[in-house]
Amino acid sequence: MQSIEKCTGCGACYNICPHQAIVMGTDEAGFLKFEKDFSLCTGCGQCDAVCASLCENKRENRIQKVFAAWAKSDQIHARGNSGGLFEVAARAVFRENGVVAGAVYEKDFSVKLMIAQTEEQLLAMTGSKFVQSVPGHVYLDVKKYLEEDRTVLFVGAPCQVKALYAVLQKEYPKLITAQFPCFGMPTALFWKKYLQHVAKTHEGSLSGIGSEVQLTEDINSRYMAFTWESGDVSAERADTCAYIRAWNNGFSVSDVCAACRDNVFPVQADLVWGNFWHIGEIEKFSVPKKDYQNGVSMLLVNSRRGEAFFEKMKPDLMYYPRKQMEAAAPHFVFQSSGKEHFLFRKKYENPRRKAFQKDLSAMTYEQLEEKYFSQTKRETEVSISRKLGPKWAAWGWRALYCLQKIWMKRNFGAES
Ligand SMILES: Cc1cc2nc3c(=O)[nH]c(=O)nc-3n(C[C@H](O)[C@H](O)[C@H](O)COP(=O)(O)OP(=O)(O)OC[C@H]3O[C@@H](n4cnc5c(N)ncnc54)[C@H](O)[C@@H]3O)c2cc1C
Ligand code: SF4
Ligand code: SF4
Repeated sequence: MQSIEKCTGCGACYNICPHQAIVMGTDEAGFLKFEKDFSLCTGCGQCDAVCASLCENKRENRIQKVFAAWAKSDQIHARGNSGGLFEVAARAVFRENGVVAGAVYEKDFSVKLMIAQTEEQLLAMTGSKFVQSVPGHVYLDVKKYLEEDRTVLFVGAPCQVKALYAVLQKEYPKLITAQFPCFGMPTALFWKKYLQHVAKTHEGSLSGIGSEVQLTEDINSRYMAFTWESGDVSAERADTCAYIRAWNNGFSVSDVCAACRDNVFPVQADLVWGNFWHIGEIEKFSVPKKDYQNGVSMLLVNSRRGEAFFEKMKPDLMYYPRKQMEAAAPHFVFQSSGKEHFLFRKKYENPRRKAFQKDLSAMTYEQLEEKYFSQTKRETEVSISRKLGPKWAAWGWRALYCLQKIWMKRNFGAES
């Protein structure tokens, strides 16, 4: 039976329930959780049958090809969080009169999943929103378009992709799915507090947010950027911002994300796209840095359908085949067997993480920042590694790379 503790907030049960007995609410720490109205529930069991926390991953996709890629168009590239692959894919779908399902900001900058059919809706979907998105009835909307024989591109977290397939209950040849490598989506409650804090730093209303965007030529340096109705732009470095530090330290993600069963092999989606962190640091990349200084995406092609769709994206992309391990190594997030996090499990067992989530509803952003992020152990390690310099960091990556190679071969027999 579904349980609140294990609920990812994927919304599959909310979409499938024929009696409207399920609504999506939030727990004390702000994570999405199902709520069942037992007066409406007939005990039909359809919710259990689709529940991401109860079902095993059904699709047997394996990573088939790996690329470093970015959009040829500078405008598209700039709108994306890394290489702008989402927009390239979405435009390929629009050319076939298809529709795109993805995440947009609401007026209050909470995030929901919806369908885009127009240019304006598509542009609102570009860029990453680093907070848990509310799925609403998007899986049923996707189904409706597939039933009309339209092409649909669905982009979301791995648990959302799994939920979509569970709700659809059959194969639709015109569905393409893409997921991002997911450390967990941060709680909307901390996001809200962060935005209240940001609002105090500037006169007027906020009109746009760029999360972990690249503002300089250093592709590994990221910023939280805010545009204001006056036209002003303000920004703070992501690595010193408590919102991002809480996320990177696992403080603002749920226990379910900490033991995620969905961001694992076999990958569910046809495509995975994320940042190609540290490209060229562990395997030679002969493309001049100036060609990809606006960001580079990692693209994993995991199915025949994904491969066929990639052919449609190619004319608008710069793309270079890369080794699987080079792409996976900085994403320690692909977990061992879904039972535990590889390498980073200890981080989630940190007692300060539990305390942070307890304090979340009562404290302001500033109080949480002061109490938890003056300097954490991991940041101390990062600053030590900075002092030791880039050579040391490169050796660190190489060591991790070798460890992961051994681990991947043991667990998945994966080729490097
Ligand atoms: C919560 C989250 C965590 C991520 N973690 C990692 C990571 O650990 N490592 C990594 O390399 N990349 C991660 N990514 C992916 C990365 O931020 C970029 O989305 C990716 O590199 C593709 O960039 P792009 O330029 O092609 O597309 P973008 O234009 O950035 O496309 C973003 C796409 O993601 C969807 N999306 C954005 N926010 C959400 C959301 N909150 N919920 C559901 N869908 C959303 C949008 O609908 C859009 O389709 C994460 C993204 C999100 C949203
Ligand atoms: S289907 Fe998704 S939202 Fe519903 S209980 Fe299971 S994990 Fe939670
Ligand atoms: S970590 Fe797992 S459960 Fe959490 S949002 Fe990502 S895919 Fe979903």
